[in-house]
Amino acid sequence: MATIAFIGLGNMGGGMALNLVKGGHKVLAVDLSADAVAKAVAGGAVDGANVLDAVSVADAVVTMLPAGQHVRNVYEQVFEAAKAGMLCLDCSTIDVDTARAVSALAAEKGFEMVDAPVSGGTAAADAGTLTFMVGGTGEGFARAEAVLAHMGKTIVHAGGAGAGQAAKICNNMLLAITMIGTCEAFAMAEKLGLDAQTFYDISSKASGQSWSMTSYCPVPGPVATSPANRDYEPGFATAMMLKDLKLAMGAAASADAATPMGALAEALYQAYSLQGHNLKDFSGIINFLK
Ligand code: NAD
Repeated sequence: MATIAFIGLGNMGGGMALNLVKGGHKVLAVDLSADAVAKAVAGGAVDGANVLDAVSVADAVVTMLPAGQHVRNVYEQVFEAAKAGMLCLDCSTIDVDTARAVSALAAEKGFEMVDAPVSGGTAAADAGTLTFMVGGTGEGFARAEAVLAHMGKTIVHAGGAGAGQAAKICNNMLLAITMIGTCEAFAMAEKLGLDAQTFYDISSKASGQSWSMTSYCPVPGPVATSPANRDYEPGFATAMMLKDLKLAMGAAASADAATPMGALAEALYQAYSLQGHNLKDFSGIINFLK
């Protein structure tokens, strides 16, 4: 049994921390929200008081925070007070440059750190079935895997520091692009008088097939579990997709990568979001295209 400081007990972190408790670890819960800490304590965690106190006695720290600046601020405190040899796992989705900078700072201070962003939403966080994309050294990955295994079912070593974040935003940029393309095709099929189920039956077995079509179809009917069947309740909210696309475009600019389709996807999701659809599933963009 290890002592693990868990910082950031929001929609995702709350469930993840409880899966570490179920895995037999002592979890020190830390969040700016007293309610979030109380909920974790009710589930078997211990109140960790604050970042400095919690990491001073922990073998590992897991962070699940909103964005890069929160991760940078929290780790500045972590490195001040952490026990020697403590492992750092940042599971937040943040920009690649910040992930690499914080990881370099960890190495300078003598700590092993991995970036381990997740795929899967709150249901997977609660169920312990997340996918983790991990960036870090081989030794860091081996140590991190033992902790992540309690919270996920697929854990992949993507490469060195920042590679987990890179994999996550490249994947989500591709998802946005295939979703918009799939929405366009269904909207055009309708205008051409083609029945949606018939088009699905053909295209899902032809070269237009993709995950966006066969696992998350943006029209009601063909795929029973897709959010289209429940008025585009998420699922994966438009605000989250837009956040990931903004991170992808920032990374593309800093790596000098050509991403014209990614840029167009960002512009379309920005427009859909400004129309007030932030909380709708990202597949709801079909209604904007229509
Ligand atoms: P959230 O806003 O629900 O939770 C973040 C928590 O961090 C909050 O409870 C907040 O109080 C806490 N926090 C912020 N600053 C803090 C600080 N300095 N010290 C301690 N606690 C602090 O967000 P979420 O939905 O849980 O998402 C967390 C991360 O996971 C984000 O990076 C998000 O992009 C990523 N993610 C979310 C989903 C999803 O479906 N929600 C899916 C995949 C990835």
